[in-house]
Amino acid sequence: MDVTATCFSSESDFCSDCGSVLPPPGVQDTVTCPRCSHRTHVTEFLGKFVQTSVVFNKLDTIALSNETEGTGMLKGPLIDRRCSRCGFERMVYHTRQMRSADEGQTVFYTCAQCRFQEKEDS
Ligand SMILES: [Zn+2]
Ligand SMILES: [Zn+2]
Repeated sequence: MDVTATCFSSESDFCSDCGSVLPPPGVQDTVTCPRCSHRTHVTEFLGKFVQTSVVFNKLDTIALSNETEGTGMLKGPLIDRRCSRCGFERMVYHTRQMRSADEGQTVFYTCAQCRFQEKEDS
């Protein structure tokens, strides 16, 4: 049984053409193989990068459309609000009821780009 190959391929992404290790995706939709120039669309392995928190500087459109189903990912309406950390102008709005009724509801804003989280007590 050859487990080496299985373990290896689960740690990185490889070019499906020549097997070279691919660089992590940047702001573009595709990653180009450094050896043979074969292009791989980032959504093919987006889930993996999301889990390992490697890439959060990608454009919000991809991140938001794909991450809503994941665990601990952004959920809720996207609003116009400026992130105080990175200056991105889209944040996800969500609320959470605090344990004590006296504390009321807390509103959270999560930056769609850098995941910076702000909260506001209502
Ligand atoms: Zn290649
Ligand atoms: Zn931000």
